[in-house]
Amino acid sequence: MTRFIFITGGVVSSLGKGLGSAALGALLQARGYKVRLCKLDPYLNVDPGTMSPFQHGEVFVTDDGAETDLDLGHYERFTGNPACKNDNVTTGRIYTEVLAKERRGDYLGATVQVIPHVTDEIKDFIREKDGTADFVLCEIGGTVGDIESLPFIEAIRQFGNEMGRDRALFLHVTLLPYIPAAGELKTKPTQHSVKELMGMGIRPRILLCRADREVPEAELRKIALFCNIDENKVIPALDASSIYEVPLTYHKVGLDTQVLDAFGLDTSVEPDLSKWERIVDRIKAPEIEVTIGVVGKYTNLADSYKSLNEALTHGGIANKARVKIKFVEATLFDGSADDIAHELQGVNGILVPGGFGERGAEGKIKAAQYAREKKIPYFGICFGLQMAVLEAARHLAGIKDASSTEFSKKGTHVVGLMTEWTKDNKKEKRGKDADLGGTMRLGAYPAALKEGSKVAEIYGHTDISERHRHRYEVNINYKDALEKAGFIMSGTSPDGLLPEICERNDHPWFIGVQYHPELKSKPFDPHPLFVSFIEAAIAQGRLV
Ligand code: GLN
Repeated sequence: MTRFIFITGGVVSSLGKGLGSAALGALLQARGYKVRLCKLDPYLNVDPGTMSPFQHGEVFVTDDGAETDLDLGHYERFTGNPACKNDNVTTGRIYTEVLAKERRGDYLGATVQVIPHVTDEIKDFIREKDGTADFVLCEIGGTVGDIESLPFIEAIRQFGNEMGRDRALFLHVTLLPYIPAAGELKTKPTQHSVKELMGMGIRPRILLCRADREVPEAELRKIALFCNIDENKVIPALDASSIYEVPLTYHKVGLDTQVLDAFGLDTSVEPDLSKWERIVDRIKAPEIEVTIGVVGKYTNLADSYKSLNEALTHGGIANKARVKIKFVEATLFDGSADDIAHELQGVNGILVPGGFGERGAEGKIKAAQYAREKKIPYFGICFGLQMAVLEAARHLAGIKDASSTEFSKKGTHVVGLMTEWTKDNKKEKRGKDADLGGTMRLGAYPAALKEGSKVAEIYGHTDISERHRHRYEVNINYKDALEKAGFIMSGTSPDGLLPEICERNDHPWFIGVQYHPELKSKPFDPHPLFVSFIEAAIAQGRLV
């Protein structure tokens, strides 16, 4: 029997609802249950693929090629379960489906309304998960009280009613702000937020109260009293020093126990959390520290490179190292002021992550050149591979005007727009003028690695599958020119037409990949490329 847990947020956004959901998923999993996590997002975009990372953080890509909310990345990193397209839905997608049905005449003359048509569509999205796991955790994006989330709240109210208390549970995450003048944590915003939820017909049975310090027992009792909730189900959730500590700290305060108790399930057997204890031990007591310079464009919003930051941390965990990230804003080095060397001095490794558009491109090319010349480990991801290729083409292969069609009509297009890809033996065609949303090469594609190459050694085999999100590719016709310049194409699509990986053979560690390895890295299963990159950075650090 599948049980459903609905996670809502109150008071303010950014309370770590996604992380809390992921941690609860991990805890239930550690108790032997099969879990599935999904996210319902109230915004109107059909998917987050067209949103700037400045606005909404990273776009997480699934194996089946969906561009999804970054919380799905947390879910995957905490549970190890690969997320899929149907684990994320937005208002935009719900309305797209409702309107398509209306045009087809599926509603047989009815007046199409938010209730029941939109809410039914949302309920269908949730109901299709029935039977796929022991627990389905559904996180509702946004904050209770927002206009946008009303149809979602109404849909989960109805769904909860239909399922009954044995199969549906509402968990509300709130904030207890500390007011310095009073020297107290305040419960009033939480009370109001629960009242708001109750006004919409939802009675949360568990409250997760985020706070930056110990919550006095008396305050927890007060919340229980005013909010109509069992005392032991008002759970204080303090800030943790590492996100990977959250499953442990939430278990300590009884989150998973109270969830099971609410469903009347056995709580006598403790979960096996040794995996998380090992990770936290390593994070807390690193033997060495390395600094990685990340040369990107969205460097002032931590969430825009979420998976990347985590994958670097995982590479550190595997090497017993603390990884410090130094973000370098590439756009500052586009012009003639080429002092990027100054910014990168002293870093033990340089990483150029995925990116889009002309701004920052020249700065990233300078970073690749600096890494190549100074023999500093270089990891180019997607755009970072393309920029390293342009650097080699310009400075080593004699193609002085090497460029990408993404940002210039002029020059020699060593990187160009691909309008065809093969997937499952079928050609996928894209017109140059097609919509931007959902039209990239997206999701998992296989690649064949060259025997004896550095990447084959790192992966330990020559067949890989990695996730993609890009429109442009290195043109295979420049293979010979690049290889003469020491830049070996050590991985291609199985038909040999699309370059997937390039590596330098005259450098301690210089690898560029067309895909996004960071999306598949997990704390307990770090991606081999990140493990190897951090290892190389440590070796480099010992030299200086
Ligand atoms: N802008 C490049 C492309 O579309 C790279 C994309 C990326 O780095 N994800 O090919």
